[in-house]
Amino acid sequence: MQVLKFGGTSVGDAKAIAQVVAIVRTEAARDPDTIVVTSAMRGVTDLLINAAQAAAAGDRQPYRDARLALIGRHHDVAEALVTDLDELLRLQAGTDERVREFERLCMAVSILGELTDRGLAVISGLGERLLAPILAAALRAQGTPADFVDAAELIVTDDNFTSASPDMDATRQAARGRLLPLLKQGTVPVVTGFVAATAAGAPTVLGRGGSDYSAAIIGAAFDADEVQIWTDVDGVLTADPRIVPEAQPLKELTYAEAAELAYFGAKVLHPKTMLPAIDLGIPISVRNTFNPGFPGTRVVGQTSNGGSVKALTVIRGLALVTVAGRGMMGVPGIAARTFAAVATRGANVLMISQASSEQSICFIVPEGDAAPVVGALETAFADELRRREIDGISSVRDVVIVAVVGEGIRTTPGIAARLFWAMGDNHLNVVAVAQGSSEANMSLVLAAADADAAVRYIHDAFRLAGAR
Ligand code: ADP
Ligand code: ASP
Ligand code: MG
Repeated sequence: MQVLKFGGTSVGDAKAIAQVVAIVRTEAARDPDTIVVTSAMRGVTDLLINAAQAAAAGDRQPYRDARLALIGRHHDVAEALVTDLDELLRLQAGTDERVREFERLCMAVSILGELTDRGLAVISGLGERLLAPILAAALRAQGTPADFVDAAELIVTDDNFTSASPDMDATRQAARGRLLPLLKQGTVPVVTGFVAATAAGAPTVLGRGGSDYSAAIIGAAFDADEVQIWTDVDGVLTADPRIVPEAQPLKELTYAEAAELAYFGAKVLHPKTMLPAIDLGIPISVRNTFNPGFPGTRVVGQTSNGGSVKALTVIRGLALVTVAGRGMMGVPGIAARTFAAVATRGANVLMISQASSEQSICFIVPEGDAAPVVGALETAFADELRRREIDGISSVRDVVIVAVVGEGIRTTPGIAARLFWAMGDNHLNVVAVAQGSSEANMSLVLAAADADAAVRYIHDAFRLAGAR
């Protein structure tokens, strides 16, 4: 049993989808129990979301334009890949109906002048629902029995509409009940990634980039032997190839390493993808749709290739918030009160660093959360500020975290020294530093303008171009 997931980079146009069809046929010949998960065509989810947001702001033109683009792109693909005329007409009618649904939803949004999370979940999931039936038909056109399945019938989630979490027991039951009969009759299910539904049937999505997570959830529901994430690069690379062109694909990574990289911004895997796989020890492999002969990266529980630092990544658009003052020294509970205040704003704290002198606590939040967080802290510490026990609560915007990842970091001395040497030698200023939560990570906070240079220097300093 295996789950194959194809991302937007793999289903960008008819030529790429033909390649996907060839991969599915090869894999299904190897293991007849193959489930396919697909995301939307490249760029489609952005198009849908931008149009819906514009509609909420009173601008109807973007969704009118999107309507034509959606019909054009999906009809083109269907025409190129599906030869049977009746099948083609049926598919195109299905596409047109979905696009009309999109138009009706955007119209309602523009009349209401508001886009709720529930509405956003419905609209942003339309791209997967447009493409998956076409991919199933393209497989049938090549003689592989395949059926479209909407993941709303398989993945049961909570009602956090735009970033939903699965109920694994309910999902296991629903997914097995729906897909096992298809597999038994030799049909490849082609499932929509990204989308799901609550137990009551309300549509949800798993968060941007979430079709990797869909594949892992479905893999776990079937205790799959493997989850394959097919994308447009040779695997998980030592760095983002758009920053470091000589970045190398890694042969193996542990779940913890992959999770750290994903969490700190490596787009190749959604950060939650590893969660369903860890308990069952299901290997996740990251493969290149356009270089299918290459083995890619295997993400597993334990790896044989040690190495201190395996890869690095950068997460942008952050702010550093500092609470400082002599009055903090030895006063118990300041940190607890700080983070309690932060929590009232629902901000996600990505990194914490406390000076050993205990005179300051600094932490990183997404830039958009900085002002409300500082406001909450000023309220929480109003007395201490008045008494000058806390000198100030400040935030610095435009910072990034560069995260250096590898299980070997915890056992290899001198990593921090090498990092600081790489920064110092190249006149880059490190604003703060912290050892990541899993100990497979060491993180530096830098000014945004220094990010790309820092990534390149660190990649060099740890000789990652020679990795694998
Ligand atoms: P898909 O549409 O297949 O899900 P994504 O765009 O979500 O693809 O992720 C693949 C992209 O992630 C690659 O094209 C690459 O540019 C980017 N990327 C960033 N960091 C890394 C990394 N460390 N390793 C591999 N790819 C990375
Ligand atoms: N299509 C969705 C998105 O763009 C899900 C995915 O690509 O994984 O976020
Ligand atoms: Mg992706």
